[in-house]
Amino acid sequence: MPRINEHYLNLRAAYLFAEIRRRQAAYAAAHPAARVIDLGVGDVTRPLPPAVVQALHEAADDMARPNTFKGYGPYVGYEWLRADIAAHEFGPRGVTLTPDEIFISDGGKTDSANLQEIFATDCVVGVMDPVYPVYADANVVAGRTGAADAAGRYAGMVYLPCVAENAFQPALPERPVDLIYLCYPNNPTGAVATREALARWVEYARAHRAVIFYDAAYEAYIADEDVPHSIYEIPGAREVAIECRSFSKNAGFTGMRLAYTVVPREAMGGSADGRAHSLNALWARRVNMKSNGAPYVIQKAAAAVYTPEGSKQMRALIDFYMANARVIRDGLAAAGFTVYGGRHAPYIWFRTPPGVSSWDFFDRLLTEVQIVGAPGAGFGPSGEGYFRLTAFGSREQTEEAVERIRARLAP
Ligand SMILES: *Cc1c(COP(=O)(O)O)cnc(C)c1O
Repeated sequence: MPRINEHYLNLRAAYLFAEIRRRQAAYAAAHPAARVIDLGVGDVTRPLPPAVVQALHEAADDMARPNTFKGYGPYVGYEWLRADIAAHEFGPRGVTLTPDEIFISDGGKTDSANLQEIFATDCVVGVMDPVYPVYADANVVAGRTGAADAAGRYAGMVYLPCVAENAFQPALPERPVDLIYLCYPNNPTGAVATREALARWVEYARAHRAVIFYDAAYEAYIADEDVPHSIYEIPGAREVAIECRSFSKNAGFTGMRLAYTVVPREAMGGSADGRAHSLNALWARRVNMKSNGAPYVIQKAAAAVYTPEGSKQMRALIDFYMANARVIRDGLAAAGFTVYGGRHAPYIWFRTPPGVSSWDFFDRLLTEVQIVGAPGAGFGPSGEGYFRLTAFGSREQTEEAVERIRARLAP
């Protein structure tokens, strides 16, 4: 039998959200009458904006007529959508991008997992801790980390702890790293980076010839005028940063699948012979080789987000979820929990009661008040002692969840 990629054996037993779903399903099977409220997996629940739905219908009609039918599109996405993204997402923030710096894909998860492929196996990787698990796991299976210790820490990875004690702002790495994963607004802590903090990272990357992968999936949730939405708002970032965004959390595209990654023309990596190579050209090469592009109808639907009605409807979606965030944040704080996040991101991050681990709290929440959340430890070793609830539920369920916790689980 063929040998497997044994780096897969270094992954933790189950992907965090798969394990959450497993425990949730087991509980539901044993307690069929329980009314479980799911504020665990970060998935949206509101329907698509009407402008998006209309565009979907029109695109479906395009596919039904011989003269407007579309087969394979450009591997990197349609130019009209890439131009729209440059004009609407970046232009207003003073960032000039050309369409050939924007690569459309079927997801931010895909892109954040795949980006590491264009870097050497011996690159040292730094990740925020806690953070979206995909960055670390993709590097584990690529063989960059070795095995994890009992706490789930990989010796070959550089952790950037984000805890209450440092206001969830990681210090610069203590040993040199080549590739740095930053996620702002942060999933799961909800923290944002100030302009100064982001400038320190750009300066670090320039000084150490590192590259930053900047995941801005929640950029639309930023509420404070002074917080940068794109890393390219920081001078000098074009040479050292790759930014990824998605239509999932702002426009409700989790079931539609559309995202994009920006690789500026100035971004460079090196080869062993000391020559510099364009990361934009490398990523384009990778996309052309491995993808046949995202669906035409979904790209048409995404473009509708940039119409006046579409953007207004998207804003209303975000406002709806952020009102939920306020309900959870205020409710948990009133119940006596120490609460973070929920101001610039649809996630509320809070301390578990003293002495209760995050998975134990998960089980208590599920079995005692029938609420599904996400245990902090699942996002990285420094997430232990914390817990995440999402603002993606209905208003009614959100209010009921807070009431159940207040009544039965207050610390
Ligand atoms: C949800 C999410 C994404 C987007 O994922 P898609 O694959 O585009 O749905 C990316 N990054 C983070 C941190 C997320 O939470």
